[in-house]
Amino acid sequence: MLETDVLVVGSGPAGGAAALMLATYGVPNIVVTKYGRLSDTPRAHITNQRTMEVLRDAGIEDQVIAQATPQHLMGDTPFCTSLAGDELGRLRTWYTHPSRLADHTVASPSSICDMPQHLMEPLLVNAAIARGTNFRYHTEYLSLEQDADGVTAHVRDRLRGDEYGIRAKYLIGADGGRSKVAEDIGLPLVGQMGVAGSINIVFEADLSRYVAHRPSTLYWVLQTGSDIGGIGMGLVRCVRPWHEWLIVWGYDINGEPPNLTEEYARDIAHRLIGDDTIPISITSTSAWTVNHMYAEKLHNGRVFCAGDAVHRHPPSNGLGSNTSIQDAYNLAWKLALVLRGSAGRALLDTYTAERAPIARQIVDRANRSIGETGRIFDALGLLSTDDPAEMASNMDSRKLPGADPEKRRALLREAIDFKNYEFNTHGVELNQRYTSDAIVQDGKPAPDNPRDNELYHHATTWPGAKLPHAWVTRGPSRVSTLDLGGQGRFTLLTGVGGASWVSAAASVSAQLGVPVAAVTIGPGADYEDVYGDWAALREVTDTGCVVVRPDNHVCFRSHAIVDGAENVLLDAMRRVLAW
Ligand SMILES: Cc1cc2nc3c(=O)[nH]c(=O)nc-3n(C[C@H](O)[C@H](O)[C@H](O)COP(=O)(O)OP(=O)(O)OC[C@H]3O[C@@H](n4cnc5c(N)ncnc54)[C@H](O)[C@@H]3O)c2cc1C
Repeated sequence: MLETDVLVVGSGPAGGAAALMLATYGVPNIVVTKYGRLSDTPRAHITNQRTMEVLRDAGIEDQVIAQATPQHLMGDTPFCTSLAGDELGRLRTWYTHPSRLADHTVASPSSICDMPQHLMEPLLVNAAIARGTNFRYHTEYLSLEQDADGVTAHVRDRLRGDEYGIRAKYLIGADGGRSKVAEDIGLPLVGQMGVAGSINIVFEADLSRYVAHRPSTLYWVLQTGSDIGGIGMGLVRCVRPWHEWLIVWGYDINGEPPNLTEEYARDIAHRLIGDDTIPISITSTSAWTVNHMYAEKLHNGRVFCAGDAVHRHPPSNGLGSNTSIQDAYNLAWKLALVLRGSAGRALLDTYTAERAPIARQIVDRANRSIGETGRIFDALGLLSTDDPAEMASNMDSRKLPGADPEKRRALLREAIDFKNYEFNTHGVELNQRYTSDAIVQDGKPAPDNPRDNELYHHATTWPGAKLPHAWVTRGPSRVSTLDLGGQGRFTLLTGVGGASWVSAAASVSAQLGVPVAAVTIGPGADYEDVYGDWAALREVTDTGCVVVRPDNHVCFRSHAIVDGAENVLLDAMRRVLAW
């Protein structure tokens, strides 16, 4: 029987990130993973700003940037009849429109990028192992029992064939969309699996001549059959510019799944490229289903689930691996504090309270995005007839003069612009506000987002929100407010006149045994707010304070200095730590 503090089942984005954060916080952990490899296909790839902030705190952001496709090559996204065929229109995606690039740049020190899953997983796992994770390939989770003191998991060594037990204080089931852990602990799953059928075709081909002038991570192809199953339209996705690719194509889930022969894959690839003289080499094919399912509770006793185990949805909006990594970030510091004896076990219940609403939100958002692609078919007159000749003529009519074609052109532009709800949802990515017992409210209502809350980020220090990013300086260095937080500790930010908060933080740290770093920002303080950005964002006065948890979510704030600051802070921290 092996023993550890946390057993992580699975080494995908959720399991890899959980192990990395636990190891970073010094928590002994073991990862078991079924196969003798990490992800062997690119799968998830869009890595949004929030995830990059998490990886920045974990100290591996630079390694991701070194391998990822950068933002400026991600977003000139065409909708076309094939790569060589007619272009119906383009959308500037992933915040590459100049106005959205401004929103993006202002919101975070980190940039969105395209990091295919087969490159991301080794970074997460290698960093975890370097920091102490005990990693076991070829090891399949079979079952578990839990009691008052811990969890005993039964696993099989698939190389030797024998079974053994691992005793852990807590277990994280990060075993993906067919999670056995979630099933074994009876998590309540809502929704439906197998809503639509999809296939992935990974291939190599030099497509520079069709794509380099409109660099994008996604090329959407509208052809006969591209509205059947799948993710709304045929997709040619760039894995590595411009020679490695992944096609997503749908099939009717009520019929037989296609026979994924090399010839079938090659035929689809050539159809979507629109040029069968291009040499292509098929790397792999796989069938998968679009799911619409989320868990309403993410844990049971000492067992927690993260990632696709608790949110199963299509890749639309690129939220899969992002949300999985962010789940792990939310859970790891809580486990670390409870295991260290610095927080009550009730802190762990806030994982469900905070992340279950996100699971539901992103599953619904991703599935809605598929349906919204139908507007493009409708605008082109493809839904009003089954006759291929009439479809072609309706589509071509957009090139003609006259009132009806003009209307069609306007409808098409509108339909393409509506896809901002799939490709530019900055609010979905950054506006996650937690409501739980680990957040101490200050009686102020949640601030309204003056813009569309899905499309636009609204920075606020309202307790529960992510700390706003502002650049502050110390001598010649420029530092993000987010870099002042994180690092596995609580951080109190105050200004000139906030000395009582600084001494309160030191005293509360000593009394609770939980580090609360204090940072002052202002003229002559630890950091200078030379641009005035922090003062504009912090929503408290110079003598007030904003306290963030290790995951950089605000858990307490005070508008100004108060009498008995130490007791006020002590009381707030006790509530957050469930003491
Ligand atoms: C075929 C396919 C294609 C996809 N394509 C895309 C895409 O194009 N874009 C996109 O954004 N998202 C895509 N996704 C979704 C994306 O990959 C997931 O959202 C993401 O991987 C979720 O991470 P996770 O860590 O929760 O689960 P996973 O990445 O699924 O990892 C689960 C881990 O658990 C392990 N495991 C499972 N069962 C056991 C067990 N019993 N014992 C031990 N280990 C076990 C697995 O080996 C794996 O390491 C795709 C998913 C699939 C399956």
